[in-house]
Amino acid sequence: MKTILPGSTIGVLGSGQLGRMFAIAARRMGYRVHTFSPDRDSPTGQIADVEIDAPYEDLDRVREFARAVSVVTFEFENVPAATAEAAAQCALVRPAGSVLHTTQHRLREKTFLRDHGFPVTRFHAIRTADDLVDFGRAILKTAGFGYDGKGQYRVSNLAEVEAAWNRMGREEAVLEALVDFTAELSVIGVRGCDGKCVFYAPSWNQHVGGILDVSSAPVPFDERITREAEEITRGLLEALDVTGVLCVEFFLTRDGRLLINELAPRPHNSGHLTIDACITSQFEQQLRAVCGLPLGSPEMLRPAAMANLLGDIWSTGEPDWAAALRAPQVKLHLYGKLAPRAGRKMGHLTATAQTAEEAERIVRAARAMLNTKCAD
Ligand code: ADP
Ligand code: MG
Repeated sequence: MKTILPGSTIGVLGSGQLGRMFAIAARRMGYRVHTFSPDRDSPTGQIADVEIDAPYEDLDRVREFARAVSVVTFEFENVPAATAEAAAQCALVRPAGSVLHTTQHRLREKTFLRDHGFPVTRFHAIRTADDLVDFGRAILKTAGFGYDGKGQYRVSNLAEVEAAWNRMGREEAVLEALVDFTAELSVIGVRGCDGKCVFYAPSWNQHVGGILDVSSAPVPFDERITREAEEITRGLLEALDVTGVLCVEFFLTRDGRLLINELAPRPHNSGHLTIDACITSQFEQQLRAVCGLPLGSPEMLRPAAMANLLGDIWSTGEPDWAAALRAPQVKLHLYGKLAPRAGRKMGHLTATAQTAEEAERIVRAARAMLNTKCAD
């Protein structure tokens, strides 16, 4: 198997912040980066050598893009299957399009998990009006193209299921039982070309309004939970035959069980703290895995916490960056997005400290400082 060495060019499908942080890692190791998406002056494009601005459906442009690179990876899993296939005609694609296909559609993903014996939340497929059922307290989610809690409706009886399904335009959906969890956590696993796997310490993820707000690691749960979560992640990397990064989001139920919420076959928001806290970041691992290089150590050098910065914090003017950086353990990451819309991920802060709890306190305090100027 040929190793793709520094100096080579990596193609990234998608051009958001995940591609940007990947491109920074790739540039640091001497690779060139081309990005392909329907956007211009994108977070990834600002770092890449070449930014191709074309629709994912323009398969000729996709093939041209793939011919110019040694390997294609992606930062956005909703790339159409035909796009991944067209790329695969002209270049290596890692992870393979089949991984995308399974994980970009909630019903396919959940069915895959159930059929392979992985612990998954109770769910019911809705394709036609005949499928509408009373599922108790549940969440109705669109089967495709959902992220950051978008396309999700909480329901508690048949009438609400029907109303929600009508509101989402009667498209294919999954009705998922509401899980009474004590915490959400995620594990990021990486699998190299040779099948070797490494795992990051799980992150504890706190959401606000369906969007990740704060992640911290290591987690304050029993060591057994960590081992189990890691074993499930290993099983998934193998069952899906992933070359690259896979994030598994879990619910920890009140009775101590792990249930898989969803998968992301790429670096994940809950792993951003690996940039500042670990020997090798999740982005560098993606690079190493898709290039066939040995994986780096995922070891955490110091407990850490990450707080997302959404567009909302711009509502009272430019945030006070200097105030947030007054705590010297705090690191600022901004994604170069031009329009700070509400709910849009614009950047994040990471703090490292003696304990994850302390890091979380510092990073929350730093974020709170961003808007203090406008208060007086
Ligand atoms: P997204 O693709 O938007 O991240 P998720 O399915 O992960 O979608 O849902 C976002 C968040 O909504 C979850 O992290 C969790 O906080 C909450 N949520 C989703 N599904 C459930 C569920 N079945 N029970 C309880 N909370 C849920
Ligand atoms: Mg999620």
